[in-house]
Amino acid sequence: MRRVRPAAPQLAGLEPYDPKYLPAEAFLSANENPCDVEAALRAEIVREIRRTALNRYPDPLANDLRDLIAEANGLDRDQVLVGNGGDELLFDLALAWGGPGRTFLNLPPTFSVYATNAQLTNTRIVEVARRADFSLDEEAVLARVAAGDIDYVIVTSPNNPTGERAPEDFVLRLLDATDALVVVDEAYFEFSRRTLRPYLESHENLLILRTFSKAFSLAGVRVGYVLGHAHVIRELVKVRQPYSVDALSQAAARVVFANRATFEPGIAAIIEERERLMRGLLTLPGVTPFPSDANYILFRMEGADAAWAFLYERGVLVRDFSHAPLLEGCLRVTVGTPEQNDGFLAALRDFIMGRCEAR
Ligand code: PMP
Repeated sequence: MRRVRPAAPQLAGLEPYDPKYLPAEAFLSANENPCDVEAALRAEIVREIRRTALNRYPDPLANDLRDLIAEANGLDRDQVLVGNGGDELLFDLALAWGGPGRTFLNLPPTFSVYATNAQLTNTRIVEVARRADFSLDEEAVLARVAAGDIDYVIVTSPNNPTGERAPEDFVLRLLDATDALVVVDEAYFEFSRRTLRPYLESHENLLILRTFSKAFSLAGVRVGYVLGHAHVIRELVKVRQPYSVDALSQAAARVVFANRATFEPGIAAIIEERERLMRGLLTLPGVTPFPSDANYILFRMEGADAAWAFLYERGVLVRDFSHAPLLEGCLRVTVGTPEQNDGFLAALRDFIMGRCEAR
């Protein structure tokens, strides 16, 4: 067979992103909203999609959706950019602020896509690890940016997979300490109810990332957005794929965003369930849950990989980080419906009791 020459060298050692999807009764592994878009809104999305021309290219910048998002955030259209999920915007960010000779500051453990994007774009990665309790090592981060070589840093708030939001006073100190682009990934901000949006006026180096995939039940549709200064947005527009957000996704996202108030009760219910799930986890011997401001909870336990398999046998899929760097022995459970959460807690309790009896 004729052989092919190797792919680009920066791909060596990279594992393709694997969300580890497996069929399960209770799908508690991907931090999605457990409830789909409700019927009346879904009907409105279908009506909007029926009106959409399929033979024409979509509006490249999704300007109608941009206007809705801009208005809700007290910004102008040119301060908003919509992408094919937050994922696309994170890649655009690495293309625009990273690259050969450029440096990204990562704060692990955090969302793995950031480091992958940096590697793909030949960006140097510098790390300041979180402390053992997953809080940010604030002084170490500030000291590292003081060296002046960091081009961009991503602060995830709330952080995935660890759950806590970044202290606002720390992000502000960071913004004041550097001219690096400080990206605050607020993919889960609807569950923490805190945003860095008020600091956009005073900080050109702040960029906020958000998504429709979590609170707004649209993970299947792929829409995310960033808020920032017009010239930062313009740089991102230079690197993006012109038609990455298709017309059907734009239509769905417009309807959902215009009706975002209808998601409030569902968000409040998830926050309440999160607190109930936390109380349940705290009653289980040997389980250490970490505080969460998001729609998931990370917890550490002995025998985490066996627990993962036991839960899966019982129809509950959670995310296994038990062998991931800095996350040894950890699993992450997404807040589901009350029934799913009860099923998860009961199965985990059975696993732990079974182990106690076996001793
Ligand atoms: N940021 C964080 C922290 C995430 O957890 C995710 C989704 N897993 C994203 C961004 C991207 O989400 P999406 O591409 O679905 O908008």
